[in-house]
Amino acid sequence: MFDLNEAEALYLDETDPVASNRSKFLIPPAPSGDGEAAYLAGNSLGLQPRRTRIDLEAELDDWATYGVGGHTKPRKPWVSYHEGLRDPAARLVGALPAETVVMNTLTVNLHLMMVSFYKPTAERYRILIEDGTFPSDSYAVRSQAEFHGYDPDDAVLRVKPREGEAVVRTEDVLDLIEREGDSIALIMLGAVNYYTGELMDIPTITAAGRAAGIVVGWDLAHAVGNVELRMHDWNVDWAAWCSYKYLNSGPGAVAGAFVHQRHLADASLVKFSGWWSTNAATRFEMKPELDPVHTADAWQLSNPPIMAMAPVETSLKIFDEVGMPALRQRSLRLTGYLEKALGVALADVPARVITPQDAERRGAQLSVQIIGADAEHVSTRMRDEYGVFTDARQPDVIRFAPAPLYCTFHDCWRAARALHEVLNSAG
Ligand SMILES: *Cc1c(COP(=O)(O)O)cnc(C)c1O
Repeated sequence: MFDLNEAEALYLDETDPVASNRSKFLIPPAPSGDGEAAYLAGNSLGLQPRRTRIDLEAELDDWATYGVGGHTKPRKPWVSYHEGLRDPAARLVGALPAETVVMNTLTVNLHLMMVSFYKPTAERYRILIEDGTFPSDSYAVRSQAEFHGYDPDDAVLRVKPREGEAVVRTEDVLDLIEREGDSIALIMLGAVNYYTGELMDIPTITAAGRAAGIVVGWDLAHAVGNVELRMHDWNVDWAAWCSYKYLNSGPGAVAGAFVHQRHLADASLVKFSGWWSTNAATRFEMKPELDPVHTADAWQLSNPPIMAMAPVETSLKIFDEVGMPALRQRSLRLTGYLEKALGVALADVPARVITPQDAERRGAQLSVQIIGADAEHVSTRMRDEYGVFTDARQPDVIRFAPAPLYCTFHDCWRAARALHEVLNSAG
């Protein structure tokens, strides 16, 4: 029997000091037929805000009305559309507006950052990543090493958890920096690991890397909109993130990048350039040579994709309305409750939560490893029979993400109950 009081979850929802913003979102129907889904897959693809369609339609209407005149239309002219996203994005990552730009997709931005910030020399040419990094990041750094003529198996250094442990210890990253630092040109780690949900100690690792003469960049894909970030104050060299996970901006949404102020006027930094890299004031003089700008805009290439950017703007407004400190407080309570509920669900099952127990070392995600289970099969049954969306990672891990904007305590209760029922019944 699943022995956790449903009424308690409902009570927690009624009394939570930070109200849910669930009504601002379109919650998918439960495939099982019972009402709304319990959507704990927002770390994979966040849900659609109700306003998104309205804001997107406004741009479609402007296109219909103005045609090419849309570039300079009175309301949100397209030529400078990205500027409207800069301040709210900067607030989310703890950056100055000049350090922030919304552009491209995440892996593209990782490459553009590495064009400027991976400058290998004969002695210092390696890139440090976490062994369990998202594959795109691994492919990106390996291809950068190859691009510069190095053997990626030698040039890419991977920090691993200890034998029998699931997450990387900060002290092991620091040890590696101490031992191998002289050969490392770039550290590029995931701020929150997509698989384990571990939140890295960004300020400590950044400080140690920089003290060892290494450029330090962070992939914020699973951190932005999830945990509080201080990219500027933590002296991070650069960062990049996507907008379709906790940022709810839609599949393949336009991503972002951060470049620390100290690099913005550095003329020695090589960048790949396009017509949106140049000074906006002189752009349409159409000169063959670039007029440099000293903001993160200098890393842009192309004119902004308006239909892909409108949903980002809609989403960032919601974060401004709620604010990350309040959202994080709600997130800590939700994830704490989910941890307790999963403990009840897994009482008789050989399973463990591989996400750190310390709430300061994780965001809104718990990854459960179920020994011997087919995670995909369990996750599919939870969705089809109980209306609970989670995310399976082969072979045996299921990720639960109670995104604090729209998930409720009752969603967490439903998720734990569904897991319990599926694991204790044949199917
Ligand atoms: C989601 C994710 C990506 C995806 O990159 P795209 O280029 O936006 O498809 C890359 N890296 C990490 C760490 C991610 O979590």
